[in-house]
Amino acid sequence: MKKISIAIDGPAAAGKSTIAKMVAKNLNYTYIDTGAMYRCVAYYALKNKIAFEDEERISQELKNIEIQMCPDGTIHLNKEDVTSLIRENEVSMGASFVSRYSAVREFLVNKQREMAQGGGVILDGRDIGTVVLKDAELKIYQIASIECRALRRHKENIERGIESDLEAIQQEIAKRDEQDMNREISPLKKADDAIEIDTSDMTLNEVVAHVMNLVLERVQ
Ligand code: C5P
Repeated sequence: MKKISIAIDGPAAAGKSTIAKMVAKNLNYTYIDTGAMYRCVAYYALKNKIAFEDEERISQELKNIEIQMCPDGTIHLNKEDVTSLIRENEVSMGASFVSRYSAVREFLVNKQREMAQGGGVILDGRDIGTVVLKDAELKIYQIASIECRALRRHKENIERGIESDLEAIQQEIAKRDEQDMNREISPLKKADDAIEIDTSDMTLNEVVAHVMNLVLERVQ
């Protein structure tokens, strides 16, 4: 079967990574979480006490940032396992802040394209279908209502034993979407040739089955 490239974009907490991971597993494809890479840059800034507003310093420091996405799903930043550290709220907001910088985007987009070479990949993010993999054979724009996204994230946190405030989550998601959709470079938007899936009233399995059908249409 032909190996294709799949792009999944959409707003924050729309369940893109959950779907991408499940589809990647079904197809034996490589899953690349591009949001985690922006999170690594934000985490590096926090750790080194560099203000998110300091574009010049952050741009200069990129050469010192080595991100490794391991096959077991863990993420290492300069050899440190940051898999759960980059999920903190402060890092989410920081990622959304530093992702507006051209040097940061160029640095990470180049890496993402390198990793995606050869196909058999599924990338999720904000600009995959519009910028990173403009020629992807399948582009999905995954959305869900803000209430639904916040509630899912809230339940996830509770399951993981993380303290959670539904109202605060909803505000954080709304703020990030607003920033991500209105930035100058590569704002979040649906690619003209992307297929929109509203998952508000769908189960996980329904979404995966729908995406799998779309994949099969393209590989057969
Ligand atoms: O996907 P995730 O929520 O982990 O992404 C964190 C932040 O990284 C987003 O809010 C967005 O600002 C940025 N991002 C981006 N482009 C991508 C992926 C993520 O700008 N392809």
